[in-house]
This record gives sequence, structure tokens and C-alpha cells, in this order.
Amino acid sequence: MAIKADYHMHSSFSGDSSAPMADMAKHALALGLTHICFTEHYDPDYIYPAGEEGMFELNTDSYLYELIKQKSKYNGQLEIAFGVELGLQPHLKRQLALYAKSHDFDFIIGSSHLCSRKDPYYPVFFEGRSEDEAHQEYFEAVLECVKTLPYFDVYGHLDYVVRYGPTKNDSYTYQKHADVFDKILSVLIENGKGIELNTGGFRSGLSQPNPCVEILKRYRALGGEIITVGSDAHAPKDIAADFDRACALLKECGFAYYCVFQKRIPEYLKL
Ligand SMILES: [Zn+2]
Ligand SMILES: [Zn+2]
Repeated sequence: MAIKADYHMHSSFSGDSSAPMADMAKHALALGLTHICFTEHYDPDYIYPAGEEGMFELNTDSYLYELIKQKSKYNGQLEIAFGVELGLQPHLKRQLALYAKSHDFDFIIGSSHLCSRKDPYYPVFFEGRSEDEAHQEYFEAVLECVKTLPYFDVYGHLDYVVRYGPTKNDSYTYQKHADVFDKILSVLIENGKGIELNTGGFRSGLSQPNPCVEILKRYRALGGEIITVGSDAHAPKDIAADFDRACALLKECGFAYYCVFQKRIPEYLKL
């Protein structure tokens, strides 16, 4: 496996995972990884279905305490970075700015899990309009976030919305939303931000990662160089899933390097 760093992983500090951090780290080492980054969910003001209130809040101090323990246990064998997956919503500007500074994170993923106060994970997001219209609304919300909320290093699963629509990515193409994608990618590049290749899309039944290959190619063609690779694993079995496929795709898109981060600074590793 050419990619040795999984930069999008959750453990039981995220409300949607029950995997002990120790199990995640142990399995990552057994797979031959050299770097991992825990990116626990912190999604303030998320709209919860009944019974799941508070699921994406994060006890950052407890999380860091356990991370330091794992870091020292694997010292010299596996680099473990301190990351977070920040749920971006435009009205949270002040709160996200303060949170990003509240701890010495190594790495911050910015993700749009909510668009117009709805999570596309739930079918209601797609009701009453075409799938293309729903996708376009989501991508316009992403553009608003990248313009106004610069508190992240890479943008997470940029076309997350296509995982959950009625026909997934069957008729979705880069070209249908090229204007908004080009604006998003240009703002990211101007601001020195990266994107991730998230292999979770394959496990959601997509034929592509998130984002799709055309977006990865376009980011590179416009001059973007900062790319991380993440499985979005919530359990050990999914760590580094489809990384051989990810490596081949990145090369095909013109990348020669992928990134890991320390204290928010990218380091480039050869593909
Ligand atoms: Zn996410
Ligand atoms: Zn995630």
C-alpha cells in the first residue's frame, strides 16, 4: 500500500462511533500505516432527530487526554495527529473561530453536514425537487462556507451530498455544477486550503470517492497541491479502506504527493 497515512478517522469520542481509540490505533499499526489522524466530530448547532441530541458535541479535553496516551504508547512506530472534523455552518463564524484556537490541533477538516439546517443524510433534504437542484443547493452552501469560515486545513468530502440522494451519483457530474465547483476550488487554493480524498464514498455505494475524480483533477489543474487521504473509518475494519484505489486515482489526477499535518502545517509524502 503506497498511502501510509489515514487522515480521517473517528473513535468513540465521536457520537456515531463505538470504537475505542486504542483499537483504532492498534489496527492502523497492524495495517502498516505510519501516520493517522483522529478527526472527531464537532458539529455545533446540529439539528438532531429525536433521541440523538448532542451526538456531535465533543468533549475535547477527554479526547486529547486519551490521544496523548496513545501517542506516547506508539511513539516512534505510528505518528498520531490531533485532529477534528468541524461541522461548518455560516451562522457559527464566531464560535468556530474560537474553537479552532481553543486547542493546538494538528489538523482541522471543515465539513458541511448541514445545508439550510438539514442533513442530506436524511431523505427529506431531497424532497420536492430534482436531485440536481438539491445537489446545487448543497454546493452553493459549501461555497458560502469556504468564503466565510477559513477555520480548517482541508475541506472534507466535498460532494458528501451525492452519497445520500435517491439515485446517488448515477446522473451526477462535475459539469452540471462546474461554475460553483470552480469558485469553491479557486477560493480554497487562494486561501492555501486543501481538499481530501475520502474513500467513504465507495462504502456508501458510489462508484467514486468523495469528491469525484473530475473535482480532484480540476483542483490539481487549477494549481491545488494540498490533498489528504481519509477512510472516514468509524470502526477498525474500515481503516485505510480502498487506499490502493485512492493512490491510483490521485496519480491519474496529476498528484505526485499527499499530505500529513503537524500543528496545521502540511508535510508532503510521495505517492
Ligand atoms: Zn463528515
Ligand atoms: Zn468523518
